[in-house]
Amino acid sequence: MSTAEDCRPLTIVISGAGGAGKGAIVDSLLKRDPRLWLSRSWTTRPRRRGESPEAYRFVTPEEFEERLRAGGFLEWNQFFEHRYGTPRPDVPEGMDVVLEIDVQGAIQVRQVDPEAAVILVLPPSREEQRRRMAHRGDDDTHIAKRLAKSDAEESLGMELADLVVINDDLDRAVTEVQAFIEDRRERHRRDAGCPD
Ligand code: 5GP
Repeated sequence: MSTAEDCRPLTIVISGAGGAGKGAIVDSLLKRDPRLWLSRSWTTRPRRRGESPEAYRFVTPEEFEERLRAGGFLEWNQFFEHRYGTPRPDVPEGMDVVLEIDVQGAIQVRQVDPEAAVILVLPPSREEQRRRMAHRGDDDTHIAKRLAKSDAEESLGMELADLVVINDDLDRAVTEVQAFIEDRRERHRRDAGCPD
């Protein structure tokens, strides 16, 4: 018999290669659904010009290492020169948690939380993906490296994901993701015996 204490939050992972448009989907989802709570990742990457100080918790390699040793990350990955990690989430009551992370991170989350809903975001084309990365200020060398990695990331992601969404039309993509989350949320709450 389940109790309200079993009613833990649903974990929603939005994953995909750089420039796929995960961020735009997440921003829009959070505006539409007040029951979603976004986890803020830690990174050792320096802040980009014009990037919000809230985009990540920007930390030194030593701070990251210290938290890692203390078991403070749900998952983490080394992505090119830098480390990125999801702190073990402290989700406000009644909310579900959204993680915007790469495919390697999504694989780890699925291992610790088999019920996590994993959504893979695909860009409409490599050209559009390149354009999006350039637009936010990534340099050409970095863009080339990330594009080269995208095929492998996407095939791994396709095996893992419960939903694959192409981000060509943002509004349509968000509506698709929202409907999927609603469905998973209902199933999750019913299975966990959550109160209405
Ligand atoms: P960027 O440097 O472009 O902000 O992020 C590089 C990649 O790391 C992106 O694919 C982004 O989604 C991913 N990322 C951001 N935060 C995390 C995290 O906490 N864990 C993992 N595994 N990947 C992350």
